[in-house]
Amino acid sequence: MCKPLQIAITVLLMLSNAAAAATSCNAPIAVQVLGSGGPEGQNGRASAGYLLWLDGQARVLIDLGGGTFARYGASGADFSDLDLIAFTHLHADHATDLPALLKSGYFSDRERPLPIAGPTAGAGYPDLGGYLRGLLAPESGSFRYLAGYLDGSDGLVKLEPRTIDAGRHAPLSVHETPAYRVDAVGVTHGPVPALAFRVDVGETRIVFSGDQNGDDAHFVDFSRNADLLIMDHAVPEDAGPVAARLHALPSEIGRIARDAEVDHLVLSHLMRRSERALDDSLERIRAIYAGTVSTAADLDCFQPGNDG
Ligand SMILES: [Zn+2]
Repeated sequence: MCKPLQIAITVLLMLSNAAAAATSCNAPIAVQVLGSGGPEGQNGRASAGYLLWLDGQARVLIDLGGGTFARYGASGADFSDLDLIAFTHLHADHATDLPALLKSGYFSDRERPLPIAGPTAGAGYPDLGGYLRGLLAPESGSFRYLAGYLDGSDGLVKLEPRTIDAGRHAPLSVHETPAYRVDAVGVTHGPVPALAFRVDVGETRIVFSGDQNGDDAHFVDFSRNADLLIMDHAVPEDAGPVAARLHALPSEIGRIARDAEVDHLVLSHLMRRSERALDDSLERIRAIYAGTVSTAADLDCFQPGNDG
């Protein structure tokens, strides 16, 4: 193929991909999957990350695992529009792309501070503040050249950390605007301090499970009547005891979605072991739960109330 033609085709493909992503999330309320994978680096899946779009603006970013920074760019989201970054927990597949996103923010015209939420500390894990200091502290942070994010100096906007008690089983308010509110609750992900997040936009409810083993009865209450439940699906039904201590089995996912009377369940955070058994897992989930079930792919957009 001659080079000009090749370039023209490449540009057309890029434009059509960008248009598809922008169009599919141009709804009053939508969740875009930035990363539908886990920590393995599967083909076609970035690690965990999600964007909440409201009226065509990306407002809330949940998790920033490896690869999500590139997906964030592909989504067309604007750093200036973000109201909140929220980490479910501080595993690498949920948190590594934060410095990349912050550096990109230098090139935006954002002026207002940026709230950022994450869990309290646990054995072997820092709290949100410790994570941020490890990255950004002026004397010792790995990316100390971005230390201005801690105090709003150097032309950078100030991060406003909100550390959420991961041991708490009752919902805690994380962020609230006239248009929507975000709450969090602690969930069990083995020994890792971990949170689930819930966004209520008027009567519409969206829940992000984070990584959890499905044992928490309070998570069913937290997810009650959700229009969308984005649930991590990292293990098959025959998972060994270590994996099952960290992640919910398909039968547990189905039970949660059924008991919480969720409208639409989206399976994400897929790993090779869960992809291999996906047909079996979907069968098990559908045997328990009668609502809509989808399997996420990167850059997918899901609209509450649109179960197609
Ligand atoms: Zn994970």
